[in-house]
Amino acid sequence: MSKSDIKGSFKVPLELRVHGRGGQGGVTLAKLIATLYSGLGLHVQTFGDYGSERAGAPIRAYTRVDETTVTNRNKVYNPDHLIVLDPGLLGPSVLDGTSSGALLLINTTEEGAEVAKRYPMLRVGVIDATSIARKHGIGTASVVIINTTLAGAYARLLGIPMEVVSEAYEKVGLAGDLAAAKEAYDSVEIFEAIESGEEASGGVEEYVLGSFPAILPLTGHVSERFAPVCTGDWRTQTPHYLFHEAPCNGECPAGNDVVGFIQTLKEDGVDAAAQRLLATQPFPSVCGRVCPAPCIGSCSRRLYDGAVNIRGLERWIGDNAEFPPIEKAENPEPKRIAIVGGGPAGLAAAFEAARAGHSATIYEANEAPGGVLRYGIPEYRLPGEVLDREVGRLRELGVKVVSSTVVNSEKLIELSAGNDAVIIAAGLGRLADLGFGELSGVEQGIAFLRAVKSGEKINLSEEDVVVVGGGNTAVDCARTALRLGAARVTLLYRRGREEMPAIDDEVADAIEEGVRLELYSQPVQAEGAGAISALEVAEVELYDYDETGRRRPVVTDRRRKIPCTRLFMALGQTPEAGLMPDVWQVEGERMLSGGAPLNVWLAGDLLTGAGTVAHAIGDGRRVAALALESNVAREEKPEVTPDGVRADFFESRPPMAEKHLQVADRLSSFAEVSEGITGPEEAERCFSCGTCTACDTCLYSCPEGVISRDGESYNIDGEFCKGCGICVAECPRMAMNMSGLESGRQ
Ligand code: SF4
Ligand code: SF4
Ligand code: SF4
Repeated sequence: MSKSDIKGSFKVPLELRVHGRGGQGGVTLAKLIATLYSGLGLHVQTFGDYGSERAGAPIRAYTRVDETTVTNRNKVYNPDHLIVLDPGLLGPSVLDGTSSGALLLINTTEEGAEVAKRYPMLRVGVIDATSIARKHGIGTASVVIINTTLAGAYARLLGIPMEVVSEAYEKVGLAGDLAAAKEAYDSVEIFEAIESGEEASGGVEEYVLGSFPAILPLTGHVSERFAPVCTGDWRTQTPHYLFHEAPCNGECPAGNDVVGFIQTLKEDGVDAAAQRLLATQPFPSVCGRVCPAPCIGSCSRRLYDGAVNIRGLERWIGDNAEFPPIEKAENPEPKRIAIVGGGPAGLAAAFEAARAGHSATIYEANEAPGGVLRYGIPEYRLPGEVLDREVGRLRELGVKVVSSTVVNSEKLIELSAGNDAVIIAAGLGRLADLGFGELSGVEQGIAFLRAVKSGEKINLSEEDVVVVGGGNTAVDCARTALRLGAARVTLLYRRGREEMPAIDDEVADAIEEGVRLELYSQPVQAEGAGAISALEVAEVELYDYDETGRRRPVVTDRRRKIPCTRLFMALGQTPEAGLMPDVWQVEGERMLSGGAPLNVWLAGDLLTGAGTVAHAIGDGRRVAALALESNVAREEKPEVTPDGVRADFFESRPPMAEKHLQVADRLSSFAEVSEGITGPEEAERCFSCGTCTACDTCLYSCPEGVISRDGESYNIDGEFCKGCGICVAECPRMAMNMSGLESGRQ
């Protein structure tokens, strides 16, 4: 379409009037529109009309367009086009001078047809530009700027193509807002004016001029009342106390309400905090010791003065609270649930089922439940009595454990027939190996750890131990070998340190204890006559990223030989074959037979392969809820954004360190290495991201003084709140937001 064709789609000269409020960008909108017209080769004139008003006060701006130089320098009294940025402004003074057939573009959340009905003689465009601009992040969290979005809708009403809009935005340096303009261009609703003489359809309200309140003479000093300068109708948005999801909460795979338990510890003490933790999972002492703690990695305090030691606090609560028995709900229709596997996922599934009043029975292949927690994690990281204490809570809740029972496919069919639901949480049983044949001294790391935990006497003195792998099992094998007297322990990993899946603190402890870490290294051949004596190791180079998001290792021909008399493989696990009947299939977390859903579900590592205790716990609970048709998901909230928390508001204070045994004491026993944090004071460092703590910052930062305390919450006087957003911007923890004028919690 040529520029002259475009110009032909509207009449010039034309006059445009913009009505907005201070802070919305109305004057810039008038200028942006002038740029659009000048891009079409037309003459334009544009200016704003405002004085010393504050944010939120009504302002006007004008644009004139003609084929020749515009010489009229008056304000626009008879606009052909009217743009209203805030529906609260619509009234006699806004529509003043407008005649039939004029164009009216309104930014509003109201139904388009309802708006258009009120102005039957005008051509009406309706768009919710505030939502679009907010979605595209234009402005700040507290004040959304809508001018560039509205200009897109205006262009569409005039039939100006997006290319012209795009050119104008580039010219004025607003290309970043084009996506929002395009969305408005595509979604503006357009209602044509009825021709004069035509009858308006039913329900048309005549526009009635409002009457301004009488101005009372000031007869003297008035002290008993404030002057009624209500600024509430200046607002384009209102502040609300809207809680957001803290980053730590979003990252906890077990589903802990981290900000909740930390704030409860701070406000109501350790027993109340323990209750809060029990609402999501029964293993705070276990998770507080062995979880890789992704919550800590996401903590808002991380880049300020060090993340809050959330795991340390969880452990401190688990170890120091008086735990009452877990409450079991009265259930008028209790179901029978069988759980295959008593590892963390199975235990969590049993917890969820039993406390909802169902009967839960775990079928466990070993003598006792706990899975990797009991048989895979060394005593110096997770003492057996800690696990027993927390598993004991489930027994008190009524969870039954049938030990030393291997479930195979026939038994699964039997369990499916005899129970309302079966949850298979058997973990991953098949272990990867290096294919070095039958040399003695080559073992699976898991088997080694299990033998040590079962009390088998193993002496590694004088041995050259090599462990292959980068996960927690590998690090546990290496540190265990040192405690059993190994002369040298080398940990080989084919990628870099930062790519090791093991918990970083554990790797650091291993190095401190004497484990030699050899990175970018992979064994390619074992040597020895009957028993392993040396290992040929290849250097590895990392190339492009694979589907797991990690760099692909490629073995080079740069080789070296290292002494090795014991080799422990910790290379990962996959599901055991033969557990399910051949005719069953998996769909998501549910088993099917001949396409029909069975009452059998998968949970934990077997389903997700995630491999951490916290993931297993979260997944066990989630799948139990699915099987029982209940819900464990937390209410969805918008997330705290990285720039949403004002760290500078808080006093800098380094994290509380955990006390560790001296290295010499560690190597001579399996005593627990970390003694944890020494008290609950670390909770004081939590910002309480996204959750109001009634700190009064909003109250004292409001320039109008319209916020008042109401117990532990606040009231905002809407008559006088001018919608400046200062309270929202000042809130140090992102527990407020600005949103449309609909009522919210105030
Ligand atoms: S379970 Fe792990 S991720 Fe969740 S709060 Fe505890 S330490 Fe953090
Ligand atoms: S400061 Fe507190 S609420 Fe915020 S992310 Fe860290 S632990 Fe969570
Ligand atoms: S600071 Fe005061 S006037 Fe401004 S939005 Fe908040 S409550 Fe309203």
